[in-house]
Formats: sequence, C-alpha cells, structure tokens
Amino acid sequence: MMLAYMEHAAAATEPDQALQLTLVADAAECAAARDFGGLVSARPAGVAFPASADDVASFVSMAALTAHLTVAARGNGHSVAGQAMAEGGLVLDMRAVARGTQMQLVVSGAGTFVDVPGGALWEEVLHWAVSNHGLAPASWTDYLRLTVGGTLSNGGVSGQSHRYGPQVSNVAELEVVTGDGKRHVCSPSSHSDLFFAVLGGLGQFGVITRARIPLSPAPQTVKWTRVVYASFAEYAADAEWLVTRPAESALDYVEGFAFVRSDDPVNGWPSVPIPGGAHFEPSLLPAGAGPVLYCLEVALYQHRHRQDDVDERMGAMMRQLKYVRGLEFAAEVGYVEFLSRVNHVEEEARRNGSWAAPHPWLNLFISSRDIARFDATVIKGMLSDGIDGPMLVYPMLNSKWDPNTSVALPEGEIFYLVALLRFCRPYPGGPAVDELVAQNSSIIEACHANGYDFKMYFPHYDTESDWARHFGATKWARFVDRKARYDPLAILAPGQKIFPRTP
Ligand code: FAD
Repeated sequence: MMLAYMEHAAAATEPDQALQLTLVADAAECAAARDFGGLVSARPAGVAFPASADDVASFVSMAALTAHLTVAARGNGHSVAGQAMAEGGLVLDMRAVARGTQMQLVVSGAGTFVDVPGGALWEEVLHWAVSNHGLAPASWTDYLRLTVGGTLSNGGVSGQSHRYGPQVSNVAELEVVTGDGKRHVCSPSSHSDLFFAVLGGLGQFGVITRARIPLSPAPQTVKWTRVVYASFAEYAADAEWLVTRPAESALDYVEGFAFVRSDDPVNGWPSVPIPGGAHFEPSLLPAGAGPVLYCLEVALYQHRHRQDDVDERMGAMMRQLKYVRGLEFAAEVGYVEFLSRVNHVEEEARRNGSWAAPHPWLNLFISSRDIARFDATVIKGMLSDGIDGPMLVYPMLNSKWDPNTSVALPEGEIFYLVALLRFCRPYPGGPAVDELVAQNSSIIEACHANGYDFKMYFPHYDTESDWARHFGATKWARFVDRKARYDPLAILAPGQKIFPRTP
C-alpha cells in the first residue's frame, strides 16, 4: 500500500525533485530501526530522505491518505527507548533536510538570529555561528551531536539552563509540518499554541523543519572550575545558591555530578580533574567522607571587548562556597573547546566498545524539596558503587521554562536534573542489561513510593494512565487536546507510544 502511494508521489514530482525513499527489507541493516539506547528495535516500512520542508510535508500528507501509516522524524537517533522509531511506518531522516538547507543569519529589529534546519546538529550550529559571525546561541546541551529538532522536542538542558533557560526557552520561531501535512510558521505571537505545543512536545504535534534561534556575541574564553564536596547538603546548598544569584553576579554555567570515593577511572576521583587541571589528592578528603562524593562544575565566560574582571568575579563567588579546600581544578579554555568538552567521552567510548553497547539511561527532574532524600535513598543507597558513567545531579529554575510548552516539570522553583548516563561494556564483560533496566525501574518505584515530586526527562511509558500521571491531569488534558488539533490521526512520532494511529 505504501509503495503505491510513494510511486504516485514520485510520478507527480519533477524528476530532479523526486522524493527519496528506501524500503526496508532487513531491520538489522537499517539504522532507523535502532537508536543510541540499543534496548529496543522497530523495523520501519521505509526510510525517507526529505531534502526540504516541502518533502517533509509531502511524506506526511501521503501517510495521512493511508489508513495505517505512521511517520517518525529521526534526528540523530540519540534516544534511548525507541522514541524516533516507527514500526511498519515511515522514518524521515531529518539529517537529510539539514544537508539540503543552508543556515541563514536573520537580523531584525527584534535581534539577531539563525534559521537552522530541524535536522542540524547543535555542533554544526556552533561552528557556523562562531566561525562566520562571532555569534552563538545561549543555551546548550552537554553533548552537541544532537539535532535541533530532537532537543527542542524534549527540552535541551545543560549547565547554562539555570541562567539562560533550556533550549526550548531559546527559540523565536518555528516552521512545523503538522499531522495533516500542512506547513506552519509559528512563534510566541503567531499561532502561539502550536509553537508552545511543539516545544517539548515529544514530536507529537508536528515535524520541526526550521527553528529560529537567538544569537549574541560569542565569548572568546571560559574560566572552567571544578570543586569537590564530601557532604551532599553542602553541595546542594552551594549549587542552589549559585543558580539563584541575580544576573549581574550569576555564573554562566553550573553543573555537577556524584562520584565514588575510589580510584576507579570511570566512577571514582580520576573522573574529576579537567584538562589542564591539577592532580586529585584523596588525602585532602575529610576523615568522615562517605562512599559518594560530589563535584560542582562552574564556568564564567570571558568576552575580549568587555571590561570585566572575570578572575575577580569567579574568585568572589568561589570564596563563599564550602567545598573541600585543595580539591579545586581550574582551567581556561576556548569557548568552542568548552562546549565540545564531552567529545572525548564519545571517542573513548567508541574505543572501549561502550558506545555501541546498550545504554539503559535514566533521566529525571526531581524537586529540590526531595533531592536530599533521593540522594540518601538512591545515590548513596542503590548506586554507591557508581554506574560506569556520569551521575549528573544539578539544579535549575522552573521560572526559566515557559509553562505553555509541553514539557512536564516538578513543582517548585528549584529542581534537579539527575542523569544516570551508563556507559557499560557489553555483557558478559560488563553487567547484564536486564539488571540495569530493572534497577532503573526500582529507582522510579522508589520515587513513587516515597512520594517524591519528580518527572522523567525523555519519558517512556507503555500505558495511557502512566502518560496521564506523567503530565498531571491539567497538562494531560491539554496534551490530548493539542494532539486532536494538530495530529488527529496520530500519525506523528509513534515511537513515543502515546497515541495509537487512527484509521
Ligand atoms: P532523536 O532521538 O532522533 O528523536 C527524539 C524524538 O524527537 C523522537 O520522538 C523524534 O521523533 C523527535 N524528533 C526528532 N527530530 C524532530 C523534528 N525535527 N521535529 C519533530 N520531532 C522530532 N539531552 C539534553 O537535554 N542535554 C544533554 O546534555 C544531553 N546529552 C546527551 C548526550 C548523549 C551522548 C546522548 C545520546 C543524548 C543526550 N541528550 C541530552 C539527550 C538528547 O537530547 C535526546 O536524545 C534527544 O532525543 C535528541 O536526540 P536526537 O536529535 O538524536 O533526536
């Protein structure tokens, strides 16, 4: 059936504009049947390579003419639970749109922006903006080989989020193809409901074909510092103090992670020093330090032409913190180097085989109200040996997120990202994946059982009642209503397993 529609479409198109589609015979050969998580696999009927927003619209329109076909936009496939897959449906390789479309500088009375294709990698946006114009977006993810459309469909967070907001708070305009195959340009002032629905909308309301991202002058260098805590209470108090400083004294970046008091290269103190930083001297840890320690990571940007004593500002902030004196690691690096700092993790993981192995990751947003109990129960309780990868734990501010977007957040002004980013070697050299998946389930059960105020980031649930609980009654009603408005046949993003396709 799908083939017939595609042949019809190809015939209706000029030869040099023919839509590119590959029918899938062998799931094992098909990248679109897999993702970074490596836990689930779903064989699509076809993979399409749209060269433009019009091509995206054509493919979605064709799917809408069928009784069963679904369409998944696939960014860089860095989901961990099949969210960009379409079992028996059509996967749109959004990287193809990026290859066929140039980024454009837009200068208007409202500011300076870049128009980027939805399938562009943030790394490409960074290099284009800095090299060509000395400009940069304000909000990033830690790792930049993610697509603009993929992170905007979720949130997009990093150490800049507390100050500049997540990536979904740093978009001026979107071009979107909705479930009826129509193209719309939307913004906070035009078709605002569609604009906000799509941001954090898990791909449910439209395919992002273009995003307009605000730019400002890029800093030249970054003062980058890590300090160590033995006490979670002191770590959290300092981190929360830092993220609530007024703009004139705020740092540009605040993150942090838990690590294990051992010399294990992945889980222990060797993971703390930064390039150019000092040696970690464990004898400086206080006598009562427990098995889990915390590293606060901060950064301040330096602009060549600004009269701003960055060393003085950084020093003034750091002097007020209660970290273990002597366990400080500082470096000055270029801005692009700072934003590319986790590339070496990918290189190392590719070398040791953990990049290609399954990644049972768990990302949670947990209210500040409950984070100390979570630390005691989960981090010190269940994960005190580490997880073979980073255990990020850092605060951000609810007020930096627009409540009109589709993202579900805990209550209260301060909440933490807890990201359990497991990079295990493949079994049997590493642990059995089923055990890690079961451990993730136990962590979520513990959160529910203890009444923590939390949300899963990159949520994946199997039942409607779980989704309803995830969003909460009011936001779930809005989510369902928006689905009925923008994708009534439930064609889009079937891998999220929220709404079944309507014939
Ligand atoms: P995909 O996984 O391909 O897609 C994700 C979802 O978005 C799917 O439902 C898909 O259908 C939909 N989608 C994709 N493109 C579009 C589009 N153009 N329009 C509409 N819907 C679309 N996240 C953070 O916030 N901060 C981080 O620091 C961070 N670091 C990461 C590091 C690594 C190594 C990895 C693997 C992931 C990281 N992530 C981080 C998570 C990442 O943001 C998500 O994986 C996200 O889904 C983006 O990945 P992607 O572009 O490959 O999208």
